[in-house]
Amino acid sequence: MADSKPGLVQCLECGRWFRAIGSHLTRVHGMTARQYREHHDLPAGHKLASDDLREAQSHRTRAMIEDGTLRNDPVTASEAARTAGRGNRTAADLARQADIARSIPRKQLPLGAKRADGRDADRARETQRLRRAGIRTSPGPKITPENIAAARTMWFDLSLSRQEVAARLGVRLSTLYRRFGPRGR
Ligand SMILES: [Zn+2]
Repeated sequence: MADSKPGLVQCLECGRWFRAIGSHLTRVHGMTARQYREHHDLPAGHKLASDDLREAQSHRTRAMIEDGTLRNDPVTASEAARTAGRGNRTAADLARQADIARSIPRKQLPLGAKRADGRDADRARETQRLRRAGIRTSPGPKITPENIAAARTMWFDLSLSRQEVAARLGVRLSTLYRRFGPRGR
C-alpha cells in the first residue's frame, strides 16, 4: 500500500485514505478500532486519525473546557490518565512487551549450581515457578523440637558434610540453612 499522504490515514482494509478512519471502520467494515488493530497487528496507540485532525479536535476540546461546555475535572482526568491503555493492549503490544522482557539479561545460576543459601538452584527456580503459578509447594520435612539441639550440634560439626547432616536428620539442606544459617567456613 502507499506510504503516506499528509493529513490522511489509510484504511488497511480497503486501502482508501481518510482524515480519520474510526467511523469508516464500523460503517464499511463492521469492525471496532480494537478489532482493526488486532487484525493488522497494530499497537494499541496506533493512530486512526491524521495528526492535524487530532490537533483540531484537541483545540475544540480545550475551547469547550474554557467555555464551560466540558468540565475540566481533575479527579476524572487523573483517573483516566492512570488507567489509560490498561486492558487495551493488542497482540502486537504483548509481543513487543515479551520481546523486551526476553532482551533483559537475567543472571541465572547454571544447572546443578547451589545458591548462596545452599539451596539447589534448579529446585529453587522450579519452586518459584510453581509458587507464581499459584501451586503450593511442600516445605519439606521439618526438624522436630526433640532433635533440634542435636541437629544444631551436627550442623556446626564441620567434620560432617552438610549433605551428611541433612541425610541423617532426614531433612533438606535448605531446611538446615533456614534454621541455623550458614556454617561458617
Ligand atoms: Zn476501509
